[in-house]
Amino acid sequence: MDRVVLSRRGFLRLSAGGAALGGLAALGVDLRPAIVRAQALRLQNAKPYPSVCPYCAVGCDTVVWSANDQIVNVEGDLRSPINHGNLCPKGAAIYQLHVNPNRVTDVLYRAPGGDSWQKIDLDKALDMVADRVKKTRDATFVEKSDDGKTQMSSLEIFSLGGATIDNEWNHLQQKLLRGLGIVAIENQARI
Ligand code: SF4
Repeated sequence: MDRVVLSRRGFLRLSAGGAALGGLAALGVDLRPAIVRAQALRLQNAKPYPSVCPYCAVGCDTVVWSANDQIVNVEGDLRSPINHGNLCPKGAAIYQLHVNPNRVTDVLYRAPGGDSWQKIDLDKALDMVADRVKKTRDATFVEKSDDGKTQMSSLEIFSLGGATIDNEWNHLQQKLLRGLGIVAIENQARI
């Protein structure tokens, strides 16, 4: 995986640039018009597309600006009754997620006991997950408990949902898991 490594010299150069801008602001120079102008230039010829932040169930509305088939900016949607144009730090970094050269875009698999990752096809990864779920469920499904009560469940599989899972997906996920007899079903969202 490619990584962006900032040299000590590059870091100092960037820091000096930031300090210079900070210094101008400290001297009373109003940078806002320059910032607005820079943003306007960046969005020139770009088209806005309404979207939703992918991160959490608050569902803040965004505007994704695209030019020449490239995303050039992502910002909060001022028209939104949910976030009124605001985004939390995570949402405000959506654009950086998109352009980040360190972003992982392949399925990576590390075999049990292995010390390295290998790229595999998404279809192959899904088949591997399905195989493991079926194998574990079949091996651990209990029809009756020790005292003869009907149990019909497997306690050896745990499902953790994410905050971006919507109602429909949650519904299907519950149906699938409960159909398999899995009862340990959780979600990391606590909003
Ligand atoms: S992660 Fe932040 S910006 Fe995104 S939906 Fe949640 S609160 Fe809104």
